[in-house]
Amino acid sequence: MYKELKKILNNAYAPYSHFHVGAIVVTDKGKFSGVNVENASYGLTVCAERNAIFSAVSHGAKKFHELHLFANTKTPCFPCGACLQVMSEFFDPKHTKIITYTSNGKKTLFFLNDLLKKQFDNVKHTS
Ligand SMILES: [Zn+2]
Repeated sequence: MYKELKKILNNAYAPYSHFHVGAIVVTDKGKFSGVNVENASYGLTVCAERNAIFSAVSHGAKKFHELHLFANTKTPCFPCGACLQVMSEFFDPKHTKIITYTSNGKKTLFFLNDLLKKQFDNVKHTS
């Protein structure tokens, strides 16, 4: 997976931050990749994780088994809050693996429960 992540990192569109990120999700419909795509209007930027998740959903994925995340950093790169909220919509908080890779290929495993203690849930708020 690390080799695939390094390869897709070249597709990241990050002319403003120069921070390239790649993500691959493993689902019941196969693997889907995403990279961060920035925009001159910074708020329109979409992270690699969300691009990978939305691609998987677009292809009919219902179960997410793993998310692999890579940025060329010496310490693990964590998903941002927006991506964690999106993950909470689709991931099993205790079983979907979130695996980050450092620049030397070291893997670290997390679960959504480790990274997001509480998520927005409009069903709970409206019922
Ligand atoms: Zn993000």
